[in-house]
Amino acid sequence: MSEIGWRLQQPYMQLPDKFYEEIEPEPVRDPQLVFLNGNLAQSLELDPYKLQSEEGVQQLVGNQLPHGARPISQAYAGHQFGSFTMLGDGRAHLLGEHVTSDGRRFDIQLKGSGQTPYSRGGDGRAVLGPMLREYVISEALHALGVPTNRSLAVSVTGEPVRREQTEIGAVLMRVSASHLRVGTFQYARQWGSVDDLKALADYALERHFEGYEEADNRYLFLLEEVVKRQAKTVSQWQLIGFVHGVMNTDNMTISGESIDYGPCAFMNTYDQETVFSSIDFYGRYKYGNQPKIAAWNLARFAESLLPLIGDDDETLKRAEEVVHRFIDYYRDEWMRGMRRKLGLVNEEDADETLIDDLLTLMKEHEADFTNTFRGLTLSEYEGMALFQMDGFKEWKSRWEERLTRQEAKSDDVAELMRQSNPAIIPRNNHVEAAIRAAEEEGDLSAMDDLLRVLSNPYAYSDEQEAYTEPPDESDDDFVTYCG
Ligand code: AMP
Ligand code: MG
Ligand code: MG
Repeated sequence: MSEIGWRLQQPYMQLPDKFYEEIEPEPVRDPQLVFLNGNLAQSLELDPYKLQSEEGVQQLVGNQLPHGARPISQAYAGHQFGSFTMLGDGRAHLLGEHVTSDGRRFDIQLKGSGQTPYSRGGDGRAVLGPMLREYVISEALHALGVPTNRSLAVSVTGEPVRREQTEIGAVLMRVSASHLRVGTFQYARQWGSVDDLKALADYALERHFEGYEEADNRYLFLLEEVVKRQAKTVSQWQLIGFVHGVMNTDNMTISGESIDYGPCAFMNTYDQETVFSSIDFYGRYKYGNQPKIAAWNLARFAESLLPLIGDDDETLKRAEEVVHRFIDYYRDEWMRGMRRKLGLVNEEDADETLIDDLLTLMKEHEADFTNTFRGLTLSEYEGMALFQMDGFKEWKSRWEERLTRQEAKSDDVAELMRQSNPAIIPRNNHVEAAIRAAEEEGDLSAMDDLLRVLSNPYAYSDEQEAYTEPPDESDDDFVTYCG
């Protein structure tokens, strides 16, 4: 074990070598640490002070390798906006799996650390703005309770990066349950043997899914567990108004964590049609489509696994049923979450109508998604246009009546709503302003403040008040770009 605390292992390298290429990060000229996630470092049993030292920073950009690291880039394929293609880590290096003393296991990956055999003409580099964006969005999602990969550090490289303009080069060190993707299985299915596919599936089972030994068909079990985890994750996105923006199959994990925060953003005004990505011309990945797209991606996962699951009629039918169950799992998770948001602890058949009617009113009156639920939580009915409407007043009395038909103390209902409705989300205007200050003036204070208030979005603290207002002008025209 080194001083910083790295305990890196390389089980992925036991897989057939078509799954990766051994490749060292490309050194950068003048690395400087921008943000280090001290709490995350500590939870990984890494020394945050030593990570900030000269040696630590060299490791955070890939100029030096941590003790036990053996960098690889992973091979994967994917459907990007529906078209199948070979991909792979074009600008990322996996240093290994860090194992804590209690046996938790995390991929440690550098992003923006140079070209790899999968770069396909790309420069292998990343830009400061998008890496700060990934840092703040991933940490915010984590604090909101969404399974996600985490960001350990962002550093600048001291080298310019050519995009449309010259940008500031940066490297992100990120931490994930793993980087296995639906696209990793598509790659194995397309270009590997059945043995290759089996090696990958067995690795995934061992790494993420306890109890698979008891399953009568372990690959069907793998499929169903991924279906369940993704149903949970995507339902949580919907419940907080998160639009991922680029749900290609290579950006969908087997662990259930959300990854790859490029053109993602949080919705302000409630609208199923919300799209932020500059490249999503047809709204394929709009807010309202996310569950359907997840189901589509999982059907691609199922197809990739078929040689292992079995292809007799009976087994095929079972696999199909598992994929179809996604929407039931999703709907159950979403209903559970929506009931919590409204402080409901028991179930009534009419709850679905109650919820749908609220959403219809929100859509009609262009209500802010987060603040509507925040207003209900705080019982603050002044201020928002929606709350003045007769339709809403009628809805509210139905809801209040519904609350009387459950056995729960009003304090407990209030507490449940506080835990289920964030006071704040990373709104585009705040995120963009903080990134701009960092990029243009080297001023990190806005980013610091933002990260602090977002670290407990359910706190309802005074400090958070300043972040609750939606942007002045409608953000209909707000677009995000891939880094
Ligand atoms: P993403 O849109 O981040 O999911 O990336 C899609 C694919 O493009 C992945 O294979 C990335 O590794 C690759 N990629 C993105 N940017 C670059 C770059 N600057 N250099 C090389 N590969 C890249
Ligand atoms: Mg290889
Ligand atoms: Mg990606």
